[in-house]
Amino acid sequence: MTIDVPQEILDALTDVDMPRLPAEPAPSDVVRLAGIEAPIYRAGCVVVGSGAAGLRAAVEMKRRGDDVVIVSQSAWGGTSACSGSDKQTLHTANTADQGDNYKAMARAIRSGGAMDEDTAYVEAVGSSRMMASLQFLGLPLPQDPLGGTLRYQTDHDEVGRATSCGPRTSRLMVKVLAEEAIRLGVPFYNQTTAVKILTKGDGADRHVVGMVAMRASDRTEENPLGIALFVSGVIVLAAGGPGELYRDSVYPNGCFGSLGLALEAGVELVNLTESQFGIGTRREGFPWNLSGTYVQAIPHIYSLDTEGAEHHFLAEYYRSTQELASNVFRKGYQWPFHATRMLDFGSSLVDLAISSETAAGRRVFMDFNRNPLSVPGDLPFSLERLDEDVRNYLGKAGADQDMPIDRLKHMNPLAIELYRRYKIDIAEEPLEFAVNNQHMNGGIMVDTWGRSSLGGCYSVGEAAGTHGVTRPGGAALNAGQVFGTRAAEHISASGRAKRSAAEGIADIAEAGIVDLLTVLRTESPLTVKSIRSQVQARMSEKAGIICNQEGVGRALIEARELNAEIHANGIAYGRAAEAVRGVQWRHMALASEAVLGALDFFIRNGGGSRGARAICDVEGESLPLASSGPLQDYRFRKEREAHREEQIVVRIDGDEIRLSTRPNRALDESAKSFFERDWPAWLTGRIYDLGADK
Ligand SMILES: Cc1cc2nc3c(=O)[nH]c(=O)nc-3n(C[C@H](O)[C@H](O)[C@H](O)COP(=O)(O)OP(=O)(O)OC[C@H]3O[C@@H](n4cnc5c(N)ncnc54)[C@H](O)[C@@H]3O)c2cc1C
Repeated sequence: MTIDVPQEILDALTDVDMPRLPAEPAPSDVVRLAGIEAPIYRAGCVVVGSGAAGLRAAVEMKRRGDDVVIVSQSAWGGTSACSGSDKQTLHTANTADQGDNYKAMARAIRSGGAMDEDTAYVEAVGSSRMMASLQFLGLPLPQDPLGGTLRYQTDHDEVGRATSCGPRTSRLMVKVLAEEAIRLGVPFYNQTTAVKILTKGDGADRHVVGMVAMRASDRTEENPLGIALFVSGVIVLAAGGPGELYRDSVYPNGCFGSLGLALEAGVELVNLTESQFGIGTRREGFPWNLSGTYVQAIPHIYSLDTEGAEHHFLAEYYRSTQELASNVFRKGYQWPFHATRMLDFGSSLVDLAISSETAAGRRVFMDFNRNPLSVPGDLPFSLERLDEDVRNYLGKAGADQDMPIDRLKHMNPLAIELYRRYKIDIAEEPLEFAVNNQHMNGGIMVDTWGRSSLGGCYSVGEAAGTHGVTRPGGAALNAGQVFGTRAAEHISASGRAKRSAAEGIADIAEAGIVDLLTVLRTESPLTVKSIRSQVQARMSEKAGIICNQEGVGRALIEARELNAEIHANGIAYGRAAEAVRGVQWRHMALASEAVLGALDFFIRNGGGSRGARAICDVEGESLPLASSGPLQDYRFRKEREAHREEQIVVRIDGDEIRLSTRPNRALDESAKSFFERDWPAWLTGRIYDLGADK
């Protein structure tokens, strides 16, 4: 399986240039509000975010004749454009060389629990269309000579539904979607950060009327912070995940998402307890997941203490060299941490061991120039002494080279090339890495059309809470495409975004701007830096892969105190650009309290270990074992079956975070469509359930 491909072809898969953005349309007006000369931009719909999900929503709306604009903090920032793993994955329906059974695929997507059954089906049945339309736009998904898509198996994927264009798959998706958006003439406001959602009405009638944004290019003497007003009755939040929540994070820099923005606007969030953590290099250097061939090459993993002494710490966990090496390999496709895989000497013991080393102040490295050292008293590492699944895989891959670096070079030379581009030569020096936060499975609660609990507000992509406890690798990108399209179809069918909004919202906007400025106070003792380090440290240390009731409870109290302090004192800023960060950190502090609140609620109600986290408890039923003996400190609670059937809903009421649960929406798998009976609902638009709109 040697990859014998000319260098320029490999280069094109890693260096993906983005298109030039068109000139921005001018504001329709400038008004004086709260002492500021604020420009006004009007649109039928504003999409917040230009990742793969937001671009998809904008493209699909524009093709249906809607008046849509995109605002983006950073046009080619965010996870779709900037992150990856050795092979970024797109989940597809095309599988087992026989097409697919969408119901079976939906069952696989929601198999971790706490996921709406209809959402899983929507994602499954929509995936073939997403793949085909991306190919139509020019996404170079690999094919066999007869037109079948090349596929492989990834995490939480039983049958091999994954495909990939290489490590920059999602960046390539952004590129082809952005090219299409530009071709269609979608206006694009770059360096524009949405900071407040404006609403009108009360209770069930409350709906979106626009948003306040901050734009570098609108800064003037009369408007030093560049405050701008976007008037629109429909918004799509596609702002990605809250990567900045954690210190130990493999998200690219500057990913704030929109959880705080949405909470503040009274939008309901769901499943905030569910995230993904796994091994990777942190965002301070080159953030990248170390899944796939990086670990399948079986490098030696070790730590260095503060004195510079080396520790072969995995040998304290696994009983034999074979077990140790086989589990390092398995991290390739069992990439995210999962509590149950800490049992029976499984692969998540690797994550536990690494995070214990980092918590003890040691730095952890992967050395591709050394095979794993032997477990004391056992035989040395040998490719002949590996568990059967591992030996078979490496055999089929032809990865029989003596050294990990040569096995990696053989299986995936791009993996080495990628780090070289960031001045890290893993062929020469060991690679420092950690267990990092990587994905937020929860987010804004939406229905099967991407509608949130606030009238006119939709959410798609990682901003939306459509995933359950686990998700197959690649399901995030697929969900963003499916829901980007679904939201666009719904908005278009409603007819509400055909023309730019003409409504006068001066009073609402003025109140919103006053609110915003109240938070920004040059004299506040709280700075962006102090809030960031407090929030990130708390989240990584108390809400990472290892949690317990007391730690989470205490972290929640501290998070509440921080929000009370922000409320009382505001946030200081220096330059105008820092003011934007000030508002974003206010949102992150809120989001952090919401995540901790949900986690605390879950644990207090008997919540056990699932997905991202082990809930440790001296009374827990599960005890991970290590070669050195039982790991009593990590005894953990089992998941409760009933919790798989429900989701935790979070909203803000006044200044209070309110928590409740709701059952997963069900899907009647026995229901069959019948053409003559169901066609009228499509023809008349009844399928969109528009009567429920506010
Ligand atoms: C290292 C890594 C590897 C991954 N690998 C995979 C994989 O193999 N397969 C998979 O399916 N998923 C993977 N994921 C997850 C997946 O990449 C993301 O979930 C997905 O790209 C999110 O797309 P999005 O469009 O929702 O958000 P993003 O791509 O993050 O885009 C968000 C956009 O919103 C903008 N924005 C943010 N806040 C604001 C604001 N307030 N105002 C205006 N604009 C704003 C940003 O500038 C950006 O343009 C990975 C994630 C990471 C971190």
